[in-house]
Amino acid sequence: MGTALVDTHCHLGDAVFDADREAVLARAVGAGVAHIVVIGESLAASERALAMASGRGGLGLSATAGVHPHEAGQWPRDGARVRELLARPEVVAVGETGLDYHYDHAPRPAQRAAFEAQLVLAAATGKPAVVHARAADTDMAAVLRARGASGPVVVLHSFSSGREVWEAGMAIGAYFSFSGMITFKNWAPSVPLSECPADRLLLETDAPYLAPFPHRGKRNEPAFVRAVAERAATLLGESVDAVITRTGENARRCFGSRVSEAA
Ligand SMILES: [Zn+2]
Repeated sequence: MGTALVDTHCHLGDAVFDADREAVLARAVGAGVAHIVVIGESLAASERALAMASGRGGLGLSATAGVHPHEAGQWPRDGARVRELLARPEVVAVGETGLDYHYDHAPRPAQRAAFEAQLVLAAATGKPAVVHARAADTDMAAVLRARGASGPVVVLHSFSSGREVWEAGMAIGAYFSFSGMITFKNWAPSVPLSECPADRLLLETDAPYLAPFPHRGKRNEPAFVRAVAERAATLLGESVDAVITRTGENARRCFGSRVSEAA
C-alpha cells in the first residue's frame, strides 16, 4: 500500500490501443499502476469507457461520461444519455468537458453551453467534472468563478493554463492534474507545480497524447504515469513514494472510493 499509482486521465478506449490494449494494461500493472480513470470524450467514447470499467488482475478501471469541447456540437443531443451513464457506479466523473479555443473544432458558444450544462450535471450528481482548458483562459476563469461554492468539484486536467485559471481554480478548491508535459525540456509553466496545495495534486498521462520524456512524440500509455510522478517528486523535492501516496489519496478523495489502490 502507499506506492500504487493512479492515472487519473487516460483515453484507453482510443483506437490506437485496439491492437494491444491488454499488453498496455499489463505494462501498467508492471509499472505499479493500481487504477486508471478511462475518459469519455464523446458519447461513444463514454459508452466504451463504461464497458471497460471493471477490475482485472490487480488493476482497477473507472470511467467518465461526457462530451469534449471538440465534440460540443453533439450537445445537448447527447446530454440525456450522459446523464444516464452518470447514474452508474463505474462512472466516477463528468467529462471530459471544457473549452478549447486553440483548435476551435466546435463553435465557442456551443462549447460554453455544453461545458456549463456538464458542470450543472456534475453538481447534480455529486461527481467531479474533468475539465480541459486550452487558450480560453478568460472564459474558463469566468465560468469557474460563476459556478462558485455551489458548483461541482472540478479537476483541471493536464494543467498548463495561466494564472487567471489557476486563481479561479484555487478559489473553488479545484484539483490540479499534471501530465507528462511537466517532463518536457521546454516546460515553462505560468504557475510552478510547487504552488499546488498538497491535497489538490493529481497525476495523469492523458494517453495516448503527451507522452513524457523520454517517450515524447510516441504513443503514451498508462505505465508512463510513473515518469510523471518521478518528475513531480523532483520538482517538489519529495520522494517518489511520498508523491505517489499523496496523489493516490487525493484521487480517492476526488473520484471516490472506487479509485482505491487495489482493485
Ligand atoms: Zn483528455
